[in-house]
Amino acid sequence: MGPPLASTLRIAIVGAGMGGLATALSLAKQGFQHIAIYETASDLGFVGAGIQIAPNLSRILRALGYGVWERVKKDAVEMKAVSIRGVCPGI
Ligand SMILES: Cc1cc2nc3c(=O)[nH]c(=O)nc-3n(C[C@H](O)[C@H](O)[C@H](O)COP(=O)(O)OP(=O)(O)OC[C@H]3O[C@@H](n4cnc5c(N)ncnc54)[C@H](O)[C@@H]3O)c2cc1C
Repeated sequence: MGPPLASTLRIAIVGAGMGGLATALSLAKQGFQHIAIYETASDLGFVGAGIQIAPNLSRILRALGYGVWERVKKDAVEMKAVSIRGVCPGI
């Protein structure tokens, strides 16, 4: 029997968006040791916009571990109500 896959498999993830980073953390949590993330953007800084975190995403962030949820929660504001307004042609 060879060495465990998690210690030998080399994984390439293309894109450091939410999907890529969550995949990398999930794989690391499973014990995979060689994970490279390739990102075309030169800067992943803040864009000055807010992001709404749905309950299913907050559960995923919590499950990822590594203090991800705690860091997000520190800067988060709990939404008490939502009002969506728009113009619907024909209504
Ligand atoms: C205006 C706007 C507002 C939104 N608001 C919310 C919100 O409030 N809450 C919410 O949950 N979702 C929101 N979304 C949706 C959310 O942004 C997406 O669902 C999420 O970013 C998708 O993640 P992803 O990792 O799949 O893709 P992306 O975030 O698009 O990440 C893909 C990454 O891959 C990189 N990439 C692409 N091609 C290559 C390549 N060839 N080589 C290397 N790197 C590459 C890109 O530069 C990018 O960084 C919003 C989306 C938009 C457009």
